[in-house]
Amino acid sequence: MKLIKKISYILFAIFILVVEVAVPNRTVTVEANSQTLRDYKNKLAKLEAELKQNEAEQQQTQAEIAASKRKIEQISQEKEDIADEVVTLTKEIEQLNKDINDMNNEIEEIISYYQLSNTGDSAELEYIFAADDITDFIYRMAITEQLSEHNTNMIKEYNKKISDNEDKKVELADKEVQLNKKEAELETYIQKQRTSLNKTLEGAVDIKDEIAANKKLIDLYENTYKCKLDETIDECTAGKLPADTAFYRSVVSGRVSSNYGRRTYKLNGRWTSDFHYGIDFSTSHGANVYASANGVVAAIFKKQSCGGNMVYINHLVNGKRYTTGYYHLADITVKVGQTVMSSTVIGHVGGSPRYETWDHCSTGSHNHLTIATGNWGTTFSSYSGFIAHNINPRQVVNAPALGGSFTSRTRKY
Ligand SMILES: [Zn+2]
Repeated sequence: MKLIKKISYILFAIFILVVEVAVPNRTVTVEANSQTLRDYKNKLAKLEAELKQNEAEQQQTQAEIAASKRKIEQISQEKEDIADEVVTLTKEIEQLNKDINDMNNEIEEIISYYQLSNTGDSAELEYIFAADDITDFIYRMAITEQLSEHNTNMIKEYNKKISDNEDKKVELADKEVQLNKKEAELETYIQKQRTSLNKTLEGAVDIKDEIAANKKLIDLYENTYKCKLDETIDECTAGKLPADTAFYRSVVSGRVSSNYGRRTYKLNGRWTSDFHYGIDFSTSHGANVYASANGVVAAIFKKQSCGGNMVYINHLVNGKRYTTGYYHLADITVKVGQTVMSSTVIGHVGGSPRYETWDHCSTGSHNHLTIATGNWGTTFSSYSGFIAHNINPRQVVNAPALGGSFTSRTRKY
């Protein structure tokens, strides 16, 4: 019994030792990032190269759209020609039918004339049957026969023309069907190319604005913080990032209208499916939007077509670096480099198509809160980089379940 107790004490002691070694005290350790100002500048240069590449690709896409448009124009011209040709053919058929009718009437007239001469003169035939009359009669009969034969042949010829025209009309109708199909294909193609041009990913930023935002941050590091080119940004900015211990909801009251993850919804009358890289708090237009935790404003984007006015804030919470993003703002009340507390109003709720007319990715007033691990300017310096480090906000911010409402920033659900 004593031996078992002894062994268990030893095992417990080993366990404590292992835990102490393997899990260092997290609250003291600050995750370090070795990126220097030079690295950041190189990243910016890469972004600028990407912009050039994008511009070239966009030009290519635009050229392809223009070519497709020209093809569609050609098709509509062809369709107009077909319509004209169909009209001509129909008119021709009408005329031919009229001519046939006339010729039929003519034949009837000739025959009736012949019959009239034959029957009407019967009395004459019986009593005054002169040689001259017979010659005249035979001559008239021959002419009649010739005329009706000629007309019959003409009718045959005209009927052939009519049937040819009808065949041609069928052929043109087939061609029109083909052209319509081709036109629809080209329209779909153009639509696709346009969509690839206007990226509708919520929060996607114009790369030009992304470059401008990074230049601003580099300017802050270089001229305000006096960072040296080969000094790591974390070292240089040490102490500048106010530490915090928790994240809070970005608005005082609201309702969770969209969760993080894949979702299907109706946008501008169309069913859309996308991955939602944040949590949406629907609330009244103009309501205060607060920094989710203490931090420093890292990037600001204005009037983006899919996210509107956006603010990104760098944080150091429990020794870990994070970045929060706030989208669809009606206005922004902070500046890049500004230190904010979790009580600081950074802007106001927007996202209403009525007021924020430039923002095509919001159907009503709400605040989109998005969170990534790492800091803007060190861990990443672009929207795509942010998305690469994006996490479900619920991992660090407490919120009621989807559809649930709240009336304070701090109450736990
Ligand atoms: Zn959202």
